[in-house]
Amino acid sequence: MPLCDRCRSRQAVFYQRHTGKKLCKECFFEDVLQRVKKEVERHRMFSQNDKLLLALSGGKDSFVLLDVLVQIHSPSKMVALSIIEGIRGYNRPQDIERLRSIVRSYGIDHFVVSAKQYLGYSVDDFAEAQLKLYGKLRIPPCTYCGLARRRIMNVFAREIGASRVVTAHNLDDEAQTYIMNLLRGDPARIVQVHPQAPLLSRLFIRRVKPLRKIYEYETAAYAYLKGFRFQEVECPYLDMRPTLRARIRRFLYELEANSPGALLKLVEFLDTILEPYVKKLKLPELPRCKRCGEPTSYGRDLCKLCELIEIVENAAKQNR
Ligand code: SF4
Ligand code: ZN
Ligand code: ZN
Repeated sequence: MPLCDRCRSRQAVFYQRHTGKKLCKECFFEDVLQRVKKEVERHRMFSQNDKLLLALSGGKDSFVLLDVLVQIHSPSKMVALSIIEGIRGYNRPQDIERLRSIVRSYGIDHFVVSAKQYLGYSVDDFAEAQLKLYGKLRIPPCTYCGLARRRIMNVFAREIGASRVVTAHNLDDEAQTYIMNLLRGDPARIVQVHPQAPLLSRLFIRRVKPLRKIYEYETAAYAYLKGFRFQEVECPYLDMRPTLRARIRRFLYELEANSPGALLKLVEFLDTILEPYVKKLKLPELPRCKRCGEPTSYGRDLCKLCELIEIVENAAKQNR
């Protein structure tokens, strides 16, 4: 085994493709920690006084988020939340229990809530309602799942008085989101990916993504080298993810494989060119949904989540 390119004293265990460096365990963990710290400071994601709500799914990224954040923020100012989407075979009590014991070992309170409890319907309810109404899944369950999770995180954060919602999105996720919004040609959405984007409603708690400059291959290696066993069961709806995101994901993987570092450069470039624009941007407060009272997009009476919930209710009416 070659020696680590940083400390030149320990054996390297990890090849960091995008820098061409071979690192030992300790230097790799330190590298991730310093890059996360730098990103948090660059965008002033939070300060020592902020109460953070950590959204943890139980996957490798959420473990890395937890492990890194306890080194830069006081555990007494953090609360963790896991959301049970309500997907048969995927949400397993033993995974939640394992996550809970890890979170508690860091001295952090852990809450578990379900989509059914918060919104009335699980992701499976949403899928089954469509099968009943249309005989097929017209809208991917991921659409409901994503909206439901965001809503629950935001409402829960308000309820407990958290000042930031912290998610474990990594660099690959962030690059996909930027490209997806660029291809949709929707400037308002592109701007919202930027970490300093203005908050569009007083009801929103700022969401921050400290791992947004850490590659997915790095979060996987970090979790593995720390000995973390993450949830291995795949969601049964994974293949039904919206096709645009799936295609962008494949394209970006190929790009990165041929030009290591490309995704990092892409996200850094977009962050930099958007920054002056984002800082000056003044947008009116978002209107409130007529049904649930939460923020909805400009020009819409109902929020997207309520529209999806109505599909489930219509299916239920057909039963009567
Ligand atoms: Fe939710 Fe889709 Fe992920 Fe399954 S694959 S957990 S439905 S977002
Ligand atoms: Zn080293
Ligand atoms: Zn609504």
